Amino acid sequence: MDPTAVEREVPTTVGRLAPSPSGRMHAGNAFASLMAWLAARSVGGRMVLRIEDLDERCRDRSVAEALIDDLAWMGLDWDEGPCWQSERADVYAEAFSQLEEAGLTYPCFCSRASLHAAEAPHGSDGTPVYQGTCRRLSAAEVEERRAVREPAVRLIVGGAEIVFDDAVLGRQHELLARDCGDFVVRRADGVYAYQLACAVDDALMGVTQVVRGNDLLGSTGRQIYVQQLLGLANPGYGHVPLLVAPDGRRLAKRDGDLALGALRRRGVSPERLAGWLGTLAGFVDPGAELSATELVAHFSWDALRACGNNIVVDAEAVSAV
Ligand code: GLU
Repeated sequence: MDPTAVEREVPTTVGRLAPSPSGRMHAGNAFASLMAWLAARSVGGRMVLRIEDLDERCRDRSVAEALIDDLAWMGLDWDEGPCWQSERADVYAEAFSQLEEAGLTYPCFCSRASLHAAEAPHGSDGTPVYQGTCRRLSAAEVEERRAVREPAVRLIVGGAEIVFDDAVLGRQHELLARDCGDFVVRRADGVYAYQLACAVDDALMGVTQVVRGNDLLGSTGRQIYVQQLLGLANPGYGHVPLLVAPDGRRLAKRDGDLALGALRRRGVSPERLAGWLGTLAGFVDPGAELSATELVAHFSWDALRACGNNIVVDAEAVSAV
């Protein structure tokens, strides 16, 4: 047998970076991005960069450009992209109409306030489980309400049960009716929801490995479900630990000293940052300075599993950057 033919048959891992340009990068999303990149590169995989700019708050191109610059400064690279979700509305519209034509959607007039006020159990992502209120509206009621406000559109989850093996967290079971209920696939302002766009893009872009923060674990069942309904392939998933402040709060853009812009201004080198993030992950010893490419050889799912759900970044850890 021709050995090169065998080589070609080995499926290539395709990872992705899918940042939302709602602000500058900070240590928390730098960590998740680095892990996604290392996971793919450590198995010789390809990388896609997708900018998740569907939301109005993410449409500022200069913010996106700064974010792309931060990723490149960190030493991350990609084989495809950037592609912009804001330019792919046709793709999402097509997927949406397939779901609609299959009779799996319905308009929902509930306001965000009424959803939060309702006595509903909270789902896996901390938001109230939708109780199906608008699924029970008659055609006449729908028309009446449509005259007053534009509806969002929800996808019926029925009895869907999703099981997947997470590279970090192990086997996961999601019962969508219990964990989120019927969920929004198109918002009332006409913007396609993250769950739809992300699921469709991951599949159509040939992504085989989604590595992201475990704050998104609760979205995975919905995304796999959308892919199943559309007859698309499901990628594998790995949800990595979150960087949190000592009080348990997720590190976020408001932790200004850990914004990449601030770190760069302070003269922190990309090698120092990669070494620090690699130390937090348990890949390398404290004080390491190495490029993202040099860190590839140290990437370890076992080390990430050993971190637990959260990695606490206290003042001492911050001063070690
Ligand atoms: N765009 C999302 C974010 O920046 C990430 C989406 C994903 O990785 O699936 O939080």
